[in-house]
Amino acid sequence: MVPQPAQPVVWPQGKRAAACFSFDVDAESAVLHEHPRAAQRMSVMSHQSYGPLVGVPRLLRILARHDVRATFFVPGWTARRYPDTVRAIVDGGHEIAHHGYLHEPLAGVDAKAEADYLDRGLEALDAVAGVRPVGYRAPMWELTYNSPRLLAERGFLYDSSLMDADVPYELSVPGSPSPLVEIPIQWALDDWEQYCYLPGISGSGLIESPRKALEIWSLEFEAVRQEGGCFVLTTHPFLTGRPSRAAALEELIARAVGTGDTWVTSLSEVARHIRSLGLQPRVLTPPDPTR
Ligand code: ZN
Repeated sequence: MVPQPAQPVVWPQGKRAAACFSFDVDAESAVLHEHPRAAQRMSVMSHQSYGPLVGVPRLLRILARHDVRATFFVPGWTARRYPDTVRAIVDGGHEIAHHGYLHEPLAGVDAKAEADYLDRGLEALDAVAGVRPVGYRAPMWELTYNSPRLLAERGFLYDSSLMDADVPYELSVPGSPSPLVEIPIQWALDDWEQYCYLPGISGSGLIESPRKALEIWSLEFEAVRQEGGCFVLTTHPFLTGRPSRAAALEELIARAVGTGDTWVTSLSEVARHIRSLGLQPRVLTPPDPTR
């Protein structure tokens, strides 16, 4: 099958581009699946719990100031540990989406285990906040070729884990009962690479200036906007929820809203728009390394 590029998208209300601000509320789960013994490391756990305890409330205040609806990807385990945080996100009018149970990376995981993570995450979000999410983001953006079918079977509308386009598109895999909207992301639009520093666990050992992060993200926002694409920024409340980083993010949100020609909204709203366009799905299959 010859890979085909995604088609250009016409945005609603005469807008020239779209922008989504998304937050992965990993908290301790991003550490615990890979490093279960870190549960005994009190300071490491506190680095992660800063996200739901302090970062999320600060980010919710920023979003409210600019009247922006955002998307929060919440692992089921995190929802059960921080139910008040999840309910505050819902009360703020934002979207809750699925992000695994204990933030399980899916590389090498079989379909049965992947389905179990999905179902446990769904149960937790329902139990904590009465939410049935329509969106999914694979932990570490590590989607498998089984994921689109498993998500479609559970009624999901969209995924946001792939990197092969500047615009959302309809995605299908062989054997899937229905297509899925894919809202692409990229590593340059993630705060992990700028800010994450956890000795012995994760990060480059560098902590970058929020000015540098803002420069990277602003340049990409402007270029995506000029080309009519969909800018999707991914940040983590335990990182970007810190004061100077949150202030830099607020500058970018204000800039996006201030253009007047960019549709600043949640991923689910973008996905519903894409679905309304009736696009032909792109059928994606794994490449054969032996040919
Ligand atoms: Zn995550």
